[in-house]
Amino acid sequence: MRVASVLAGGARLVVSIDDKQQLVRPIRLADGTKPASMIELIERYDEFDPGRSKNEQPMPLADVELLAPIPRPSRNVFCVGKNYHTHAREFARSGFDSSATGDKDAIPTAPYIFTKAPESVIGPGSPILYPAGVSDSLDYEAELAVIIGKPGRKIVSDDAYRHVWGYTIINDVTARDWQARHKQWFLGKSFETFCPMGPWVVTADEVDPESLDIRCWVNNELRQDANTRDLIFDIPTLIATISATMTLLPGDVIATGTPAGVGIGFQPPRYLQPGDQITIEIGSLGRLTNAVAAPSDTPTS
Ligand code: MG
Repeated sequence: MRVASVLAGGARLVVSIDDKQQLVRPIRLADGTKPASMIELIERYDEFDPGRSKNEQPMPLADVELLAPIPRPSRNVFCVGKNYHTHAREFARSGFDSSATGDKDAIPTAPYIFTKAPESVIGPGSPILYPAGVSDSLDYEAELAVIIGKPGRKIVSDDAYRHVWGYTIINDVTARDWQARHKQWFLGKSFETFCPMGPWVVTADEVDPESLDIRCWVNNELRQDANTRDLIFDIPTLIATISATMTLLPGDVIATGTPAGVGIGFQPPRYLQPGDQITIEIGSLGRLTNAVAAPSDTPTS
């Protein structure tokens, strides 16, 4: 099932998407109520009533506004740095990797986990605000994101997929100068609007996450072209690693890392400019497109 958070006639709804017919239907739970948010649906998914939901009056997909599937996560978005071999090497070579001391360090021996602030999340089509005067080295990172369903702590790898509710796409937008200068990646990754997410969640039963083509275009030029089978640390390893330290909760989001082809992989680097449009496509998860807004569009207060 494809599930989206949308705005319809001014109201926020959680809907299922009929991609073929380009229709959406509000989701209903067994008691007849509509979940108020994607996180409520995930928490109460055993109460999801496909029959009731199917009888809902459909609306054209074109008549609703897609929001990020989880518009404001309950806590930071978990992310993984340098998790594809080719990207780890291009990042180490770029000079922006404050965690590398030479090419021998390019491939991590344990997952690098960092986070993005919840306030950085935006939906499909929303502008990435160019932080004029603050950073001039914006970069894109196409990533498969895992949405946690069943909570758990100390999850072992063999059980990890049982805790996954679904998958979506994230663009891990990064201010490279801030990432390099401040050593900790949090600020450079957490500018407001730097976490485009969507266009919807595809539930885990419909996805083979270990064999998904992942592609990213900037202004229709293909920049990233890889497959999730090339992940250094697979999804079970990431879930086991994070949950060894803290309980993973329903609605937690884990962005699994980006393959080669980001802007700093080029010589000279090809940073995002106002007006650039970034489109990410991952397997059958859909397409996520966002454009960089001109500096004049950036609010000053
Ligand atoms: Mg990333």
